[in-house]
Amino acid sequence: MGRPSGPPTRWALSWRILITDGLEEDGLTILRRRADVAEQDDLTGLEHFDALVVRGRTRVTSGVLSSAAPRLKVVGRAGVGVDNIDLEAAGRIGVIVVNAPLASTTSVAEHTLALMLSLARRIPDADRSLRRGEWRKAELEGVELSGRTLGIIGVGRIGSALAARARALGMHCIGFDPHLAPGEFRRRGVDPSGFAELLGLSDFISLHVPLTPETQGMIGPREFEMIRPGARLICTARGGLVDEASLLSALESGRLAGAALDVFAHEPPGPTSLVSHPNLVATPHIGAQTIEAQRRAAHDIAEELLAALGGQPLRWRVA
Ligand code: NAD
Repeated sequence: MGRPSGPPTRWALSWRILITDGLEEDGLTILRRRADVAEQDDLTGLEHFDALVVRGRTRVTSGVLSSAAPRLKVVGRAGVGVDNIDLEAAGRIGVIVVNAPLASTTSVAEHTLALMLSLARRIPDADRSLRRGEWRKAELEGVELSGRTLGIIGVGRIGSALAARARALGMHCIGFDPHLAPGEFRRRGVDPSGFAELLGLSDFISLHVPLTPETQGMIGPREFEMIRPGARLICTARGGLVDEASLLSALESGRLAGAALDVFAHEPPGPTSLVSHPNLVATPHIGAQTIEAQRRAAHDIAEELLAALGGQPLRWRVA
């Protein structure tokens, strides 16, 4: 017997997919083989689409989901963080949400390391001062990472990838993660620690938790009091985890030797006192902004989205 006659692509091509935050060509190519794909920068007409692909910019609220259902069946996040999508509403309304959680792990871990080294050796400050024609060699004394303690808050994919790289540089890694089994910490290259203990012991503290009601503001005025004086804080996870007013106070008082942020409570933050502080290294949410991570995210989300539309088993369903 030959193959079943009648190509399934006829009904498959009736799927309509909307992309609002852009998608790398690899992902577009996969989607266009099976569906009608439209790109625009807002959600107008979403009720006429079967699936939506977003990154972090588009906010997929309960109102958006309920007005686009029942035709809208799947939302795909080309990346990890799903804090811009109302997962509870999606579950209630029956819209599947999938993401691409493995795509950006290496890029974010590498960017975190770049920020740690920038802080330790004051590279952005040194670069700015040389451009002004100065030669502030004596003032630009830094510290080594080797032999220092790195406290990792959230020992998931990115936290563990950071630990592997930090260990290679001779750092001692400790980690806090209430959702991890005790035996799992050492397997991920960190010594388990309590939250207060981590704040008090670490020379560098790096956050790698999702933004949830539980983690919102988890580094605030009380925590800055507990942080070891002279420590350095890095956040490449999400704005809103670190209370920015308290961070500015900690930098101004000299309690923190420095901080580095890739993410902000409001993006873009504009030229605030925090962003302009000489001991802050700031980047515009570029943790996953590499050729490799964007390509992987586009490829992974395209395949997962088509699997969801086709009723196939899913690898990365979050709602
Ligand atoms: P993950 O799910 O693998 O790891 C998150 C870890 O945080 C988990 O192990 C979880 O148990 C832990 N956690 C949750 N609540 C906690 C709490 N209250 N205290 C301590 N630990 C807690 O996720 P991941 O892939 O490692 O990504 C982490 C975060 O990084 C994402 O949620 C996203 O917000 C952020 N991110 C940022 C960028 C960027 O461009 N800067 C890119 C990708 C991801």
